[in-house]
Amino acid sequence: MAESPRIDVDLYSDTVTRPTKDMRRFMCEAEVGDEQKHEDPTVNLLQDMVADLLGKEAAVFLPSGTMCNEIALRVHCRPGEEMLAHRTAHPIHFETGGPGALAGVNIRPLDGARGQYDAATLEEGIRPDFRHYPRSRLVWVEQTSNLGGGSIWPLARVRAVTDVARWHRLSTHLDGARLMNAVVASGVAAREWAAPFDSAWIDFTKGLGAPVGAALAGSREFIAEAWRLKQQMGGAMRQAGIIAAGGVYALRHHVKRLAEDHANARRLAEGLAALPGVRLDPATVETNIVFFDVGGPLDAPAVVEQLLARGVRMGAMGARTIRAVTHLDVSAEQIERALEAARAVLR
Ligand SMILES: *Cc1c(COP(=O)(O)O)cnc(C)c1O
Repeated sequence: MAESPRIDVDLYSDTVTRPTKDMRRFMCEAEVGDEQKHEDPTVNLLQDMVADLLGKEAAVFLPSGTMCNEIALRVHCRPGEEMLAHRTAHPIHFETGGPGALAGVNIRPLDGARGQYDAATLEEGIRPDFRHYPRSRLVWVEQTSNLGGGSIWPLARVRAVTDVARWHRLSTHLDGARLMNAVVASGVAAREWAAPFDSAWIDFTKGLGAPVGAALAGSREFIAEAWRLKQQMGGAMRQAGIIAAGGVYALRHHVKRLAEDHANARRLAEGLAALPGVRLDPATVETNIVFFDVGGPLDAPAVVEQLLARGVRMGAMGARTIRAVTHLDVSAEQIERALEAARAVLR
């Protein structure tokens, strides 16, 4: 393998965070038991915290957000049924074909700006009852929208699309990998965002900075079924309190500080927008994700490579598009260093 350059500012993703010393200590000292027997007090605590946070009857701790999505799909849908999601939704692109392979679910991708569709578009996408059509079953919202640039679905829109879903007797699922970013940026409580959904989950390994895990919440019945699939898919663990403790710690200490990530993203966006050839409207940066296009002589992979040579890592998302994500391990001062590097590369 080629020697990789030293990374000084890692804006590749909010998944690159390392557990802090205090988080590690807390994990080290966690009380544990067999989570499959519901005897792990730390897992039980985390599940109760998430159920309460999201205003649902129950929650289940899972190894990843991907497993939250895939299990939710399997609980909501039978093979041959259809889920409706924005065309940028995570399971369409980043779950290795899981909806087809694991749930046998058909996906109806919906259009709309910045990772969001509206109620009218959803209404049009829902199938009438006809033997030749897949049966519409599930409506999917990703809050915040990752490929939508960390955009926050407005509460009115969330309510409008979930109203349409209920009217058509469809189930509703909230992919809340970055829900807490939306909570902190909007001031709207997590349970309010989650209220119109049958199932919802949050990830501990994105902005919250824990090393492992996510938790899926819903009705007692829904979560009992989710537990069966967790077992079946090999996601049931033993003394998982060791890792669940990272989630407990993150919910206690790493939520409010997401505001710093949002301020850093906005500062980064403003600095980048001032550079020649960069297309970016800083006003669209609502949380911790910054997408921008480069229009100069260098394409996105070349810009990313040159930034990396200067110790700044971002991700090329296409020929002209670059993504940068702020998080717990990036300070305001590092944002200035990233901008310095960007000025040198894009000048
Ligand atoms: C990261 C992410 C997931 C998957 O979570 P993992 O914990 O990485 O498996 C799902 N949805 C969205 C929107 C994400 O950003």
